[in-house]
Amino acid sequence: MPSAAQSVTVIGLGPMGQAMAAAYLDRGYEVTLWNRTPARADALVARGATLAPTVEQALAANELTILSLTDFDAMYAILEPAKDAVAGRTLVNLSSDTPEKARAGARWVTDLGGTHLTGGVLCPPPLIGTPDTSTFYSGPREAYDKHRATLEVITGKSDYRGEDQGLAALMYQLNMFIFWPAMIAYWQAVAVAGAHGIKATEIAPYVTENFAGMGHFIDFYASRIDEGIHTGEVDRTSMGLASMEHVVHTAADAGVDTAFPEAVHDIFRRVVAAGHGADSFSRAVELIRKS
Ligand code: NDP
Repeated sequence: MPSAAQSVTVIGLGPMGQAMAAAYLDRGYEVTLWNRTPARADALVARGATLAPTVEQALAANELTILSLTDFDAMYAILEPAKDAVAGRTLVNLSSDTPEKARAGARWVTDLGGTHLTGGVLCPPPLIGTPDTSTFYSGPREAYDKHRATLEVITGKSDYRGEDQGLAALMYQLNMFIFWPAMIAYWQAVAVAGAHGIKATEIAPYVTENFAGMGHFIDFYASRIDEGIHTGEVDRTSMGLASMEHVVHTAADAGVDTAFPEAVHDIFRRVVAAGHGADSFSRAVELIRKS
C-alpha cells in the first residue's frame, strides 16, 4: 500500500468528488476512485487515477478515503454491502447532512472498526484545490492531525472544531442557512429586474456591493444579539415591516412569485404584532428562537 501522505481514495464523483480527485492528481497523489456511476471517473482515469472495480478494493487501496456524496444515506447505501472492508480505514465524510446524521454515521463507522472524520466544505467545485478556501472538520483530533496535509489539498485551509462529530456538520449547515436563502433572494431580485427588462448582468455590480456590505451588518449585530440588545435607534422593526410590504408589492406588481418575500414579511409582521415594532429588527431572532 502506498504511504497515506501520497495516496488517497475518493468515493463519490459528483462535481465535488471529481474536483477533489483532480486536485489530488494535480499534486501528484496516487488516486483510487469508486463511484456508483463508473463513467464519471473516465476523465480522471485518463489523467492517471485508478477506478477500483469494487468498493472493497477502493477502501483497501488506501488508509484514507474521502467520501463526497449527496448525504449520509448514500454512505450507508455504498458501504453497507462492503462493511467488512471498513475496519482499519479512515473515512473523511465531506457529504452534507444534519449534525445528528453525522454523529450516527460516525458511530456506525467506528462500530465497524474504522475511523470517521466529519467535514463540511465551504467552497464550490471550481475553487477546490485553491489556497483561500476552507473546510470544517470534527472528530478524533489524532486522525485530523495525521491527515491534515492531505485534507488541505482539498481546501487550502481547514478549521478543526473539536471531537464532536456533529460540529463540522453544524458549522456547515449554519453557512447553508445563509447561503441558500441569500441566493434565492438574489434570484428574486433578478426576476423582478427581468420583469422590467433589466438583465441580471446589469444589476450584478449592485448585488455584489450589497453582499459585500453585509459584513458591516454582521459586525454591528453579533455582539448586540449575544448581549440581548435590541434597541431600535436606527432599524425599527415597524420600518422593516413597511419596507417588506413595498418589496412584496413590487414583486406582485412585476407579476413574479411572492412566496419568499411574503415569508420574510410574515416574520416582521409577527415581531410587530408581539409589540416590538419600535425595537431593532434583530428582535426577530428572539421570535425565531421561540418558534
Ligand atoms: P452530488 O449530489 O452531485 O454528488 C452525488 C454523489 O453521491 C455522486 O457520486 C452520486 O453517485 C453519489 N450518490 C448519491 N446518492 C447515492 C446512493 N444512494 N448510492 C450511491 N451513490 C450515491 O453532490 P456534489 O458532488 O455537488 O457535492 C457532494 C457533497 O458536497 C454534497 O453533500 C454537497 O452538499 C456538498 N457540497 C457541494 C457543493 C457544491 O457546490 N456542489 C459545495 C459545498 C458542499 P452517482 O454519480 O452514481 O449519481
